[in-house]
Amino acid sequence: MRIAVLALQGAFIEHEEMLRKLGVETFEIRQGDDWQQQKDGLVIPGGESTTQLKLLKDLRLLEPIREAIERGLPVFGTCAGLILLAKKVIDEDFDRISTMDITVCRNAYGRQTGSFYTEAPVKQIDKKIPMTFIRAPYIQSVEGKTEVLATVDRHIVAAREGNQLVTAFHPELNDDLSMHRFFIEQLCKGKTK
Ligand code: GLN
Repeated sequence: MRIAVLALQGAFIEHEEMLRKLGVETFEIRQGDDWQQQKDGLVIPGGESTTQLKLLKDLRLLEPIREAIERGLPVFGTCAGLILLAKKVIDEDFDRISTMDITVCRNAYGRQTGSFYTEAPVKQIDKKIPMTFIRAPYIQSVEGKTEVLATVDRHIVAAREGNQLVTAFHPELNDDLSMHRFFIEQLCKGKTK
């Protein structure tokens, strides 16, 4: 099992550490050529989605990543990663990776004071998990086959559509490995792309 971690900006090292604790090999995508390596999944970290989008375009990674996800490559996007994967972002009418049938509200909790911690149950994991939100988005609605996995204060904060998993919070910033384990076991195992 080898997982690519998009390492252009944001909290990618923390994801690598979580995956290593699960015995999973990781490598970083920093430039176009890195994408050629064999991989069983991709993690898109939190950070700043506008910066990540610009770098993805500059490095000509946007199209190859979109195509790989459309062909079934498992992907886990957290926070900014969730925004990059959304087909619709409220009041922002431009393309990102845009592969997942969700409508997202960016900076939904406010820009400065919108960081908080809570614990909430996640469907299919069947327990409460720690959730750290940092200038987070939430999912306003899911479309198509997308399944809601978690809500906080009636806002959707985790969802899955087939090979795509997203959280509005940062599971890599707490000790609980459940979300990463779920990604590896439910989305990546049995796939070799
Ligand atoms: N507010 C950021 C954005 O819009 C996301 C924040 C995060 O990833 N922690 O890209």
